[in-house]
Amino acid sequence: MDSSVTSLHASPIFGPVHSRRLGVSLGINLMPGDGKMCSFDCIYCECGTNGERTPHAPRPSREKVLQALEDVLRKRHDAGQPLHTMTFSGNGEPTLHPEFPAIIDGVLALRDRYFPQAKVSVLSNATMIHRPEVRDALMKVDNNIQKLDTVSEDYIRLVDRPAPSYSVERVIDHLCRFNGHVIIQTLFMTGRLTLRWTAGDGVETFDVDNTSDAFLLPWLQALRRIRPQGVMVYTIDRPTPCATLAKASPEVLDHIAGRVRELGIPSSVSY
Ligand code: SF4
Repeated sequence: MDSSVTSLHASPIFGPVHSRRLGVSLGINLMPGDGKMCSFDCIYCECGTNGERTPHAPRPSREKVLQALEDVLRKRHDAGQPLHTMTFSGNGEPTLHPEFPAIIDGVLALRDRYFPQAKVSVLSNATMIHRPEVRDALMKVDNNIQKLDTVSEDYIRLVDRPAPSYSVERVIDHLCRFNGHVIIQTLFMTGRLTLRWTAGDGVETFDVDNTSDAFLLPWLQALRRIRPQGVMVYTIDRPTPCATLAKASPEVLDHIAGRVRELGIPSSVSY
């Protein structure tokens, strides 16, 4: 793994960026600007690995987040500049922030004051949605976007690298509890991952292609249960810490989105 090829976001506000999925989007990063904090440690993470990106600065407080956001919104509003989305993303998992529910309330109030037409989106890895206060907060946002890369627990442990207590079945159960107020985002890729064992000279290589029917069929079955309002199908876009990963082809991504639409669920594709 080599996190030097990856990049971190400023905190607490970054951008605006022209997102492939969300238009002109102002980023809200609830993690420190000098490192990454996440309950996953995905081998494709554009912020790098948790071990190589340990932060030293604290997380920004609710007051700091809302003050910084208001400063930017006021300036954009006064200058007549557009804004389509405010997106919680950045250097890790936003719902890990202890003040996440109160920050959501504050951001929604600022949105209503300065850009009432803008959508508030949260990009999350779904590891905290078992907490009622997190789920309640996510029910208030326009785009509650939750990651589900596959339903293979082995694959998730290899690629997303959650805590040992993680259970994909439990996560799917909790995704169902949004009663359709959720958008699923799934990253498809090909390539391989090579692991070198620190004890001895062992090397093992794993295929990380999650585009075959062996992965797709159970994932589609999970979507039938969750009944999300949409599914975002995407692939690697920027440098990743693992150099041997590869993008899924546009044809494959289109095919997958088509399979989702056959279920009656809208699906977008980012190449
Ligand atoms: S969930 Fe997102 S932020 Fe966390 S490690 Fe994976 S890609 Fe990175």
